[in-house]
Amino acid sequence: MLRIGLTGGVASGKSTVAALFAGLGVTVIDTDRIAREIVEPGRPALAELVRALGTVILGSRGALDRAALRRRIFADADARRTVERILHPVILAELERKSREAGGPYQLLVVPLLVERNLAGLVDRVLVVDCDPESQIERLIKRDGETRESARAMLAAQAPREARLAAADDVIQNDGEPAALAASVATLDRRYREMAAQA
Ligand code: ADP
Repeated sequence: MLRIGLTGGVASGKSTVAALFAGLGVTVIDTDRIAREIVEPGRPALAELVRALGTVILGSRGALDRAALRRRIFADADARRTVERILHPVILAELERKSREAGGPYQLLVVPLLVERNLAGLVDRVLVVDCDPESQIERLIKRDGETRESARAMLAAQAPREARLAAADDVIQNDGEPAALAASVATLDRRYREMAAQA
């Protein structure tokens, strides 16, 4: 199975691009979604987080309180490492399982932190959604109501644009109109289908 890793900075347009691929019949597997699913009530990873960090990370109905978890690890590097040690292997195992079980002409694995976490080895090719950081900041302000300062801080916490581009086999430029994306996606989809057929 040909596996394409889709990555890009925050608000670069990953979800928009992934939806376009899905619309063409491509299997899309989303790491952010997996990261949410594995900590649903009753899942072992949630129990492990509670054992490590205490019930302060739970909301009133026993579900993970993400804001409380963020507060808990904000200024505590040890706690952050603990959370990563618990969750990352489970996320990767689940990604592998979903990929094995899903079919498709080829698969698009959406991995926002592919470059930061050095995960290029998971996939056959890395597709980067690239755009001007100023566009990301504008989109964060518009989509999430971030302030310019908080949006800048979010970008600064991620790999720089250059590092992401250095890891890319393919790049989708997303600085223009959203409508222009469909054509770029269709072109790549044709290439990926050819590659998958030859593999
Ligand atoms: P990501 O998944 O990388 O965080 P999204 O696909 O959610 O990014 O896009 C971020 C926001 O920017 C969304 O609100 C989306 O509708 C918008 N957006 C995406 N591409 C463009 C574009 N080319 N021009 C303007 N807005 C865009």
